[in-house]
Formats: sequence, C-alpha cells, structure tokens
Amino acid sequence: MIAVENLSFSYKEPVLSGVNFEAKEGEVIFILGPNGSGKTTLLRCIAGILKPKGAVLIENQTLNDLSKKDLAKKLAYVPQRSDTGFLTVFDVILLGRKPYMGFGPTNEDYRIVEEVISLLNLEKLAFRRLNELSGGELQKVMIARALAQKPRILLLDEPTNNLDVKNQVEILRLIRKIAKESNVSVISTMHDLNLASLYADRILMIKNGKIFASGGIEVLSRENIKAVYGVDVEVVRMNGKVVILPGD
Ligand code: ADP
Repeated sequence: MIAVENLSFSYKEPVLSGVNFEAKEGEVIFILGPNGSGKTTLLRCIAGILKPKGAVLIENQTLNDLSKKDLAKKLAYVPQRSDTGFLTVFDVILLGRKPYMGFGPTNEDYRIVEEVISLLNLEKLAFRRLNELSGGELQKVMIARALAQKPRILLLDEPTNNLDVKNQVEILRLIRKIAKESNVSVISTMHDLNLASLYADRILMIKNGKIFASGGIEVLSRENIKAVYGVDVEVVRMNGKVVILPGD
C-alpha cells in the first residue's frame, strides 16, 4: 500500500536518515520517539509537504508521479495543530471533498460529508463554527475532513494530544475502526506508550531520525525504552498487554 524507501531529510541539519518501512492495507502503525527525533518531519515527508531523498511509494507510484489532487485522493494528513476559524463544521468537512470537485460540490460530495458526520457522531455540531469547539471536538472534525477525502492512507500527528482519557479512547477506537472497516492504512505519531501499545498493529520507535526498533508490543521493552528515551521504566505484562510505569 505505502512503502518508504531509504528516506532521508535535512532542514539545515540532517533530521531523518535511511528510514525504511511499509504499511499494509488496514494496518495501524504508531511512530514513537522522543521530542525532536523526527516524527513530524517523517509524516510531512510522507504527506508530500517536504521533499526528502529516497522514495515514498503509494500503490506503487512515487509521490513525485502524483499530482497534488491525485495525492489528496489517496492520502490525508491531520497535523498536530489545525487553524480554527469561522467556517462551520459542515463546510470544513466539505473542504475534504475538494480534490474531487469540478465547479462545486455534487450530491455525492454532500452524501459523503453526511456519511462522515454520522460516522463520527458530529450531527449536533454540524453547524457550529470551528472556534466554538472543544479540543476533542475539533480533533474529530479534522479527522472527519480527512476521511471525506476517502484516502487509502491516513497520517495523524499526535491525534490524542490535549484530550482527556475519554476522548483519547474514543479517537483511538475510531482510528482502528476506520482502518479495519475501510482498509485504510493509518500512520500516526504518539507520545503515550501505553495507549500506543493498546491500539497499534505495529510500532516504530525512532531515535535521532532513524528507526531503532519495529514490531509488535514486544518492542516496548525496558531496554528499548531506555535506549530511545533515556529513562528507566518498568514494563508490566498483563493479559497479553503491557503497562509501562516510571521505574522510580
Ligand atoms: P518530533 O516530531 O519527533 O518532535 P520534529 O520532526 O518536529 O520532531 O523535529 C525534528 C528536528 O527537526 C528537531 O531538531 C527540530 O528542531 C527540527 N525541525 C523541525 N522543523 C524544522 C524547521 N521547519 N526548520 C528547521 N528545523 C526544524
């Protein structure tokens, strides 16, 4: 579905080097790593916003072969911070249909917007303005706009940042549901190791712009966490799950 091959990127200083991985259809991948390790930069390279060395292949086409419009039909990116403004929730989600529009929205575009609003239970907010939403509501709207693009790949930057535990769980369940029911590949950055361990199919641990470890929850070992984050933790196994606690 999507393959990242030998990807490197420098702003002025090198940030990413030799990054290789693939995401399969319906797979949920969480990218973990300390602040400044290059997670957001990696997402922005995959989204075609930055121009890295190496290749990003989407359904066997390189990013460079795809027009902006065609890329937006295959891939949607939800950044960490979104601009709020005076547009309504409905209009913002409708903007997700822009890559498909000619002169204006068709009935099909409106149908998809309504479908996404219903999937995310946003009916009551549909005619609210973005600057009148809570953090959790705004995050859902941004995911809704991304889904209206009908992407095959969904890139999310810290989707649970600033959310309370109920909203975190709701968003992460929704992300898995989208991946599994619509066969969308999800690649998301994440700070919370415990949440990542619960909702990931695969975890990529990044250290200094390189993939340090990749795999299932077994990569969240004491040794790896110490090596990547420089902190001592205890990893407790419980019913096939792991709980990571500070080691003091
Ligand atoms: P993460 O998402 O893991 O916190 P980032 O990808 O945001 O890391 O940043 C990786 C490194 O790149 C950091 O050292 C950061 O200071 C640097 N960086 C990020 N954005 C820019 C930019 N626009 N110009 C120059 N350096 C940047």
